[in-house]
Amino acid sequence: MQHLRHILQQFWGYDSFRPNQAEAMRCVLEGRDSVVVLPTGGGKSLCYQAPAMAMDGMAVVVSPLIALMKDQVDALDQCGIPAACINSTLMAHEKREIARSVRSGAIKLLYVAPERLVQERFLDFLRETPISFFAIDEAHCISMWGHDFRPEYRGLAHLKEEFPGASVHAYTATATPQVREDMAAQLGLDRPEVHVGSFVRPNLFYRVRQRGDILAQTLEVIRKHDGQSGVVYCIRRKDVEQLTADLNANGVRALAYHAGMGDDARRRSQEAFVRDEAEVIVATVAFGMGIDKPDVRYVVHTGMPKSLEHYQQESGRAGRDGLEADCVLFYGPGDFGLWKSIIGNDEAPGAAQALSAMYDFCTGMACRHRSLVEYFGQPLNSCSSCDVCAGEIEGVSDASDIAGEILGAIADTGQNFGGAYVANVLAGANEARIRERGHDRLPCHGALRSHDKQAVRSWIEQLAGQGYIERVGEYNVLQLTANGQALLRGDGDAPRLLAPDEAPRKSRSRAAGGAGWEGVDHALFDTLRELRRTLAAERGIPPYMVFGDASLRDMARVRPLTPDAFHHVRGVGDRKAAEYGDVFLRAITTHCEQHPDAPVETTAAPIKRSPRNDRRSQTFQLFRESRSIEEVCEATGRAPSTVNMYLNEYLVEDVVTDPSPWISPFLVEQIESAAAVAGTERLRDVFEHLDGEVPYDAIRIVVTCLRNRTA
Ligand code: ADP
Repeated sequence: MQHLRHILQQFWGYDSFRPNQAEAMRCVLEGRDSVVVLPTGGGKSLCYQAPAMAMDGMAVVVSPLIALMKDQVDALDQCGIPAACINSTLMAHEKREIARSVRSGAIKLLYVAPERLVQERFLDFLRETPISFFAIDEAHCISMWGHDFRPEYRGLAHLKEEFPGASVHAYTATATPQVREDMAAQLGLDRPEVHVGSFVRPNLFYRVRQRGDILAQTLEVIRKHDGQSGVVYCIRRKDVEQLTADLNANGVRALAYHAGMGDDARRRSQEAFVRDEAEVIVATVAFGMGIDKPDVRYVVHTGMPKSLEHYQQESGRAGRDGLEADCVLFYGPGDFGLWKSIIGNDEAPGAAQALSAMYDFCTGMACRHRSLVEYFGQPLNSCSSCDVCAGEIEGVSDASDIAGEILGAIADTGQNFGGAYVANVLAGANEARIRERGHDRLPCHGALRSHDKQAVRSWIEQLAGQGYIERVGEYNVLQLTANGQALLRGDGDAPRLLAPDEAPRKSRSRAAGGAGWEGVDHALFDTLRELRRTLAAERGIPPYMVFGDASLRDMARVRPLTPDAFHHVRGVGDRKAAEYGDVFLRAITTHCEQHPDAPVETTAAPIKRSPRNDRRSQTFQLFRESRSIEEVCEATGRAPSTVNMYLNEYLVEDVVTDPSPWISPFLVEQIESAAAVAGTERLRDVFEHLDGEVPYDAIRIVVTCLRNRTA
């Protein structure tokens, strides 16, 4: 394994394995058949790519989509790994060229489509080649039980007979045990070792909201992620087109994608998105399979998906690179009915049940992560990255009373009116049409006047969604269902009603955002991102293949100034260090010269600071005299951010243990008690423990003093 670790570092610039990767790789090295189930973004590719580099011979990778194969080969090429793909789009001379490379032993990974592995000529060709092992990507495609059955995969059943000496390894993100077992059986795997990882994706922050002004709601998410990549899913094509137009009118570079668009137009949208030329793709479910973009920072659903499987898959396209990402689902009461009419009677009987589970997910108040993984049979206590666990949404405590009033008002007004009218009666509106009918004299008139009318409308929708009320006839008049009548009599389960307040309650919604950004110089990050885009365009590859966001953030955090320091950045292997080191170092150096005062994290590698030594020692002297930050700013004429940076260096260097000259006793006590619980390892933990209400600068000072005490 030591060898593999070295390979990981050398080619990918990674210094550790993700969960299950080491075990999965060991199976390959030891030649034991295996089944590896990891969620999207779990790092399945590395499970076969790294062993392929460690072993003699060539690995054959079966992959269902030509576009994916090409991406993988390009990405490997960037890491300096000799890989190739053979598929139907290649010209004869290109195929010959690849065959020659394979024969010469130069290729370590060969990607092929499944149909090729039943062609006798191709099999003969492989028989002449030393094969290290076979890796079957998206292996669930072989199973009829899965959602992605591909008949071409059936041919793989003969692989074990054709190549008895080579081990076969199946990789999938499909979590259902039935598909998994069928997959292993169809492939004829020999006592496969099975590795199933956790399906929890803690870097994704899940939120579910009721749909209101969907354009405004979508824009809010997009604006929060200004300039980053996101996907917006709509149920219908016409919604895709409308929203795309609206977003563009609001200055967002958005492109549409749906099955009605024609291959060319769709490909153009997808490519522009992958190349960071468009920031948002607005799509139907047709979009997703076949893109590997790892830096999708948010996925918005403007309507309810039709099942939790779909939701997990679609939202799971966010944050493959392991960095934080937002998944926001907006649903409306009409979505259930819309899907029912789309699904009709054609689909499997399970479809209606799946739809109900999805609706419960939306209207319920259980931890989103837990709901998702439990649906796939894995336990989870609770998370810290969904609206429910973060305390962003609260159920109303008197839901039964409110529901009683609403159902009572519908009954008392004769089950003959729509939601707006009923809400008006409950709000105690003084309207002619209410007075004319004598509804102003009913006990329910004004029964919910202490609540916001929008809230009452929303609760009516929620009760309809939960099956207590139905809409009937041309005018959608509200009537009680059997469940509604039972509830009104005092029988049946209490309904759940959510407060309609869509805004997160507190700035506690740290969500995506804080996590991977600590200490990152944003301006430098933007500069490097632009540089990455230029370099990628020159090479005709997607920007993420040059460096992932995690690497760019690391660079903008550490600000390496020497080739050696650059090579230590996460995701910088030998090849990329050689190819991109110079140009990135130049950009970082220039930026540091132009922004000498930019704040740096204490954990960052120290920047060479010889020209600044004088200023520094002068400032240190002032700190030794216990001067406050404001006084030092004034005395030195420097910005607070710079002074804070110097202060921190001073605290570390002089091993200062008392923060009181700079921080008020009250704040010191607050931060120290938070650190007693959250530890002094990471500032962010303390920051979060204080609900984001105390600035990092203050936390840094107190925590550094605490660390010094134990040093
Ligand atoms: P999957 O195929 O399971 O969806 P990928 O193989 O595409 O996942 O990996 C997702 C991302 O995670 C890629 O950008 C990959 O480079 C990165 N990655 C994989 N393994 C590691 C690791 N050990 N350390 C850091 N990044 C990793």
